[in-house]
Amino acid sequence: MTRASAPRSTGRSRLLVLAGPTAVGKGTVAAEVRATRPDVWISVSATTRKPRPGEVDGVHYWFVSDEEFDRMIAEGELLEWAMVHQAARYGTPRGPVEAVLAAGRPAMLEIDLQGARQVRATMPEALFVFLKPPSWDELVRRLVGRGTETEEERTRRLATAREELAAESEFDVTIVNHEVHAAAAELVALMVLDLEQPPIDNL
Ligand code: 5GP
Repeated sequence: MTRASAPRSTGRSRLLVLAGPTAVGKGTVAAEVRATRPDVWISVSATTRKPRPGEVDGVHYWFVSDEEFDRMIAEGELLEWAMVHQAARYGTPRGPVEAVLAAGRPAMLEIDLQGARQVRATMPEALFVFLKPPSWDELVRRLVGRGTETEEERTRRLATAREELAAESEFDVTIVNHEVHAAAAELVALMVLDLEQPPIDNL
């Protein structure tokens, strides 16, 4: 794990934003955190994408129609949202995040780069973590290995991933995803460390 610079987080920040290129394993790392740390709340995004086999509404995503997504945007219900891979829209429902933070519980978002940039604009005190593959070849292998996308979609996602990799320097911390358990443990350590820092005005 490397810190790009002194973290902007003051210790009052309990929001961690995890982003990184497509197929780096953000979802798997987030699932590992969910399984091992029930005290860490992870946002469930709304999406217009259709569920994949095994995905459960309200657990993996809130699967909504285009009309419902439009309504959520219009009524200001999304903290951030983005069109990802030119295929579907994804967004973070604002209410639950605000409620969890107000209750003083640690919260985590697992979102794409465009979304992370929007959160940075509105909640700059959050801790921004970039999850990186061990190498480009490994990223390609993971994307192909997942086998859930068509050839055309894979090509598009790889092009997106190349651009996304270049955004590492915008983040506070980088974690290299060599192995899911280790990456999840690093992430949790960051949240715990973050919580243990005293607020800046108590120093
Ligand atoms: P997938 O369709 O493979 O589950 O996810 C595709 C991409 O959407 C991933 O890069 C994931 O991080 C991103 N994503 C998931 N939820 C959100 C969200 O609420 N907002 C944004 N901006 N991206 C999201």
